[in-house]
Amino acid sequence: QGGDSDAEHVAFYSRDMNQGMQERMRIETGLRQALGSGQLELHYQPKFSIADSKIIGAEALVRWRHPERGLVPPAEFIPLAEATGLVVQVGEWVLEAACAQAQTWKDAGLPPIRLAVNVSAREFTSALPGRVKETLERYGLEPCWLELEITESTLMHNIDRVIGIMDRITALGVTLSLDDFGTGYSSLSYLKRFPIDTLKIDRSFTTGIPSDASDCAIASTIISIAQQLNHKVIAEGVETVEQLAFLKDSGCDEVQGYLFSKPLPASEFEKALREDWLADGR
Ligand code: C2E
Ligand code: MG
Ligand code: MG
Ligand code: MG
Repeated sequence: QGGDSDAEHVAFYSRDMNQGMQERMRIETGLRQALGSGQLELHYQPKFSIADSKIIGAEALVRWRHPERGLVPPAEFIPLAEATGLVVQVGEWVLEAACAQAQTWKDAGLPPIRLAVNVSAREFTSALPGRVKETLERYGLEPCWLELEITESTLMHNIDRVIGIMDRITALGVTLSLDDFGTGYSSLSYLKRFPIDTLKIDRSFTTGIPSDASDCAIASTIISIAQQLNHKVIAEGVETVEQLAFLKDSGCDEVQGYLFSKPLPASEFEKALREDWLADGR
């Protein structure tokens, strides 16, 4: 009897596994087609200076315009793309699309704003600096148009190799920011060795401000670490005026979040930028 139920268990298990694998293969095949047929698009979430509430840049966030499923958020395909390695091709598309957009805005006479592109650990190879340089040149962009957001998981592998790649990127004039800061495992002793421009406080900490004392303590500690190390600091996921007030009082430089704006399609971001720009006659 025990043998029967074991066999059943195995049968169920492999059926579930097959379904999971089929689902993954379906997404992977779909994503490959999406890359080739223009179904990916970038949305742009403005980043604001806390001092004067002006737009100082934007984070480019990828979406998949699926013919049947509509607009698919990155959480539903980036982790799989990271697991299969397809994220490298997605990343190439994203860098290309962000630079093409920057060139369009530059040619339209808009002020230079920094577009931040998220880079996965698997894309952070010795080929990246050359690709970034070549892409900027091809679109006629000064490096101040581009920023790369990397997460702590990128930094966990081979520190010396990673720092070498970071140095080559910053030597181009492209800045680096450390995304989701505080959620990974990178040691503080390494932090001083990274040539980064900005620390990005993870949304999970911002969310607890001001009611959760630990989140407040963590956020203000990250801000003082950034200040001590001469880095800028931005908080992501700012949704309330209370959070904004706390961050401002704590000395945070920049903010990004639904309180100001959700990620916007390019045309809407351009509109917001023009309004912001005209508002103070820049
Ligand atoms: P992330 O880089 O930490 O990006 C911030 C995420 O928080 C975005 O979600 C953004 O829409 C969301 N967000 C911003 N402000 C708020 C807020 O006030 N409240 C709430 N609830 N959410 C807010 P999104 O666009 O769904 O992206 C999720 C993650 O997917 C990103 O996290 C990033 O890790 C990844 N991702 C997105 N685009 C790319 C890409 O082009 N390449 C790679 N490798 N990863 C990407
Ligand atoms: Mg990011
Ligand atoms: Mg983030
Ligand atoms: Mg995050």
